[in-house]
Amino acid sequence: MLSTSPFRALEQGPELKAEDKLTTAIETEICSLENYLVLPDHTMDARIAAARQKLGSQAVILGHHYQRDEVIRFADFTGDSFKLAKISSKSDADYIVFCGVHFMAESADVLGRPGQQVILPDLNAGCSMADMAEIGQVEDCWEQLVKLGLTNDMGDGITPMTYMNSTAAIKAFCGERGGVVCTSSNAPGAFEWGFNKSPKVLFLPDQHLGRNTALAMGIPMSEMAVWDPFQIMGGNTPERLRKAKVILWKGHCSVHQRFLPEHVDKVRAKHPGIQVVVHPECRWEVCQKADAIGSTERLIEVITNAPRGTKFAVGTEIHLVNRMGKQFADQDKMVITLDDSGCLCTTMFRISPQHLCWALENLVEGNVVNRIKVDDDVKHWARVALDRMLEIKVDHVPAAAAMVAASGRLQD
Ligand code: SF4
Repeated sequence: MLSTSPFRALEQGPELKAEDKLTTAIETEICSLENYLVLPDHTMDARIAAARQKLGSQAVILGHHYQRDEVIRFADFTGDSFKLAKISSKSDADYIVFCGVHFMAESADVLGRPGQQVILPDLNAGCSMADMAEIGQVEDCWEQLVKLGLTNDMGDGITPMTYMNSTAAIKAFCGERGGVVCTSSNAPGAFEWGFNKSPKVLFLPDQHLGRNTALAMGIPMSEMAVWDPFQIMGGNTPERLRKAKVILWKGHCSVHQRFLPEHVDKVRAKHPGIQVVVHPECRWEVCQKADAIGSTERLIEVITNAPRGTKFAVGTEIHLVNRMGKQFADQDKMVITLDDSGCLCTTMFRISPQHLCWALENLVEGNVVNRIKVDDDVKHWARVALDRMLEIKVDHVPAAAAMVAASGRLQD
């Protein structure tokens, strides 16, 4: 029978007997991911815990709130991308095992100290929003804005600003041109920072976070333009771009964009008095109807601080909503999803207990698998933009009331 440890053969050292060699070959095979993927989830728990214990302070496991329970229970720290970026930037661990998606692991590598290694248990855990802004497309957009005379290459005229949910190359693009990264926790502060520098902002890649933040600041729709990378001049006239204070990249989160205003009406009709709280990646028609808007950290805070018995419909990823539903049940708080059909981040879901176990057991043996390493030239400017972000205070997109107050000026 094969050992439950894929590394038993390796532990035997180099002095193997001839009859052991065949076993060694077979057992070394077990190190391959394919051999973990066929094992049931429940067999992973003890192995993950054992590998975690062996690694001790050498490793830190970070878990994004959208991870499934079977994975997040092993995280040393949980949080949204902003909180996890801050934690990873202060970590002394040699290995940061990031149970999140690719752009988060990239940011951890950019912010990490020399020699620190970042591991993403499944390299297929990407982000569809981040993929919507490719560096070549953004460079092309910028070139056209420069040609129109709206900015120079250093960002005097337009502050390029990217949401955390973007590739390191896009972050570096912004950093090099005097721009900044922001998260859903500090987007209003980042906009203020951007407007202190230049009269316009180019916001990448999430049009919804950009629009919601701009509206909350009182910028009307007529002073916003959407840049579609698949159209000439982003689908705009030069006049439209000249008039725009905010140019929004045409990207979105496939999870949060699924929430619709009718979901808000439906849940309120079914549960009178329910509070609707949503993530600012939701479309503005949804945010406008919500009682509160916030990053995942903020949504958790709002629900935590509410009186017993409060009911919430939450517009964010389903794993977090279900977890909060269980967590707050003993306080008589009802926490349900805003959309019954459930909004799952399929890429985040790719990180399975099997992937985590495989990454950790390899680390125990000194094998670093799935390392995320950002090129040095990209790293430099991405770090500049991320460091600027870390200095901006947390300042959430205000609740619907502020947006409704501005609604007289929202129309085109
Ligand atoms: S929830 Fe949306 S933005 Fe977040 S990782 Fe998934 S696809 Fe990307």
